[in-house]
Amino acid sequence: MVHTGEEPPISGTKGSGTVFFAHCTLQCCYCQNFPFSQEHNGKDYSVEELALVYLWLQQQGCHNLNWVSPTQFLPHAFEALLIAREKGLRIPVVWNSSGWENPSIFQLSRYFCDIFLLDARYSNDDTAYRYSKATQYTTINETIIRLARDIQPNDCFEDGLMQKGVLLRLLVLPGYAHECVALLHTLHRIVGNKVYISLMSQYFPTWKAFENPPLDRTISHEEWGTVTATLDSLGFTNGWTQELE
Ligand code: SF4
Repeated sequence: MVHTGEEPPISGTKGSGTVFFAHCTLQCCYCQNFPFSQEHNGKDYSVEELALVYLWLQQQGCHNLNWVSPTQFLPHAFEALLIAREKGLRIPVVWNSSGWENPSIFQLSRYFCDIFLLDARYSNDDTAYRYSKATQYTTINETIIRLARDIQPNDCFEDGLMQKGVLLRLLVLPGYAHECVALLHTLHRIVGNKVYISLMSQYFPTWKAFENPPLDRTISHEEWGTVTATLDSLGFTNGWTQELE
């Protein structure tokens, strides 16, 4: 789809060419994309057909090709990319994922990925396992973010559109603002406060969140205020914060 709701340097004026791959490396009980990330809905494509999808998105004027949760289809996504490149695909490739990846597989992204759009969600391994079935989350997420920064050390823009770089997404979870605060401190330590941050207040309960309080509510003004105050106090000035409605 042509996605106009990503961050401004990703969606720009003409949208981001988004391909949602079925499944996800995480199993978040509150996933807003659960029909395809958890229930595995989707449509089968051959690599040749997928290459045509990439080219179609470019023809629509999309600023980039945005792979959402590509890891489990990486060989096919990549093969389709090679075919599409030969046929004239020129737009940058975005790796948009949970940030919980096998590092040796993620390393391969250095050969084709221009922009990393990665989640940083938890600062406690028990919380990550409870809500997303992820083991060793904090170590792995830190490793992946460091790797992404290593692969794309500079954030480059043209006409306000990101061409290369790293953008980290932090979704504040109800009852866990303190983990988001701790995450900001970790990011400050491992990649510095110049990294682009997208701080998100949009959480709403869906999927199995109602069985998992306190995830059965939206975040409070107090929780949001705590996180935004930390963002400011640590000097993160690059990025975006959503409005809390
Ligand atoms: S990482 Fe994102 S897409 Fe994957 S299950 Fe969690 S919320 Fe859904």
